[in-house]
Amino acid sequence: MAVKNDIDPAVAKKSILDYCLKKGALVAGVADIKAIERIAPEGHRPSDMWPRAKSIISLGVGGQTQGAWQIPAKALGYFGSTEVRAYTIAYGAAFLIENKFGKRAIYCPPDMDTEAGPRVPFQSLKLHAELAGIGARSLAGDILLHPEYGYMYFASIFTELELEPDPPMQENPCPTTSCVDLFRKTGQTPCMKFCPVQCLSGDINEAGNQAEMRYDMAACAEMTQQFEAVPGVLADAIRAEDEEEREDLLFDAENKILWYKLSVGSGGLLGQCFECMRVCPIANQSPQADPIRRYEHRMEAAAGDAEGDSI
Ligand code: SF4
Ligand code: SF4
Repeated sequence: MAVKNDIDPAVAKKSILDYCLKKGALVAGVADIKAIERIAPEGHRPSDMWPRAKSIISLGVGGQTQGAWQIPAKALGYFGSTEVRAYTIAYGAAFLIENKFGKRAIYCPPDMDTEAGPRVPFQSLKLHAELAGIGARSLAGDILLHPEYGYMYFASIFTELELEPDPPMQENPCPTTSCVDLFRKTGQTPCMKFCPVQCLSGDINEAGNQAEMRYDMAACAEMTQQFEAVPGVLADAIRAEDEEEREDLLFDAENKILWYKLSVGSGGLLGQCFECMRVCPIANQSPQADPIRRYEHRMEAAAGDAEGDSI
């Protein structure tokens, strides 16, 4: 492979991050790969996936539209997941790096480790994004939140290019003042209170910061990761005593929906129920949390510029 030796890392970094933003990412940064090597568990370190990796680029795209947050609970699981857009940008960035700089790059698979089961990813995109400084862990099961853009979906690219890492966020926007107030009164923040299976709990210290986050992943998964229900339904059907019971198990309305989701490849099989994020003031009320807020932000900025021009 021909290697270009005259690459300016600062120029390369700007070019790659600009590409991500131009293609629709709201934020992008470079994670400190040495820190990820230290923090990620064995088998899930960048070097376990690709020892040649020298840098990890992480990007985030906007989550739900403002309208999507207003639909009924039974439909919310189908709406708004924009991770595919993030993955598309990451694919493109990997191609850009190889084509523009002659250095190898890979789109980091967001998928589950085939040897470790359906709840263990090859790599933690969350850790990449957190260390790249584009999200901070919340009390809602460690979902990353951003003070300006709220709730996002993330994707990562590994590359042989050596890029200067960005620092993690210095301040965590979670919990907000209103969340702390509710916690002081009731012992729960909004995400904890409105989780339908009560799988979130935790503690907030005197200063109003996160002291402890507890997340019952199994309870959340039972509610939201419905692909895990499929083998159970099939096992029950196989064990059924007679034809009628088997038909009932396979074709009752709730189970038929599983076949529907499988046949259309629905993200509703492996998403969240989103109720924790629907009530989260950062997820849906941050200054640029949805396209309408981003539109208003642009209009205000344009009005400010016009005012400046006329002075
Ligand atoms: S996705 Fe649903 S079940 Fe899971 S933590 Fe959020 S509110 Fe609870
Ligand atoms: S509702 Fe949002 S900001 Fe408030 S504690 Fe939960 S995750 Fe944090």
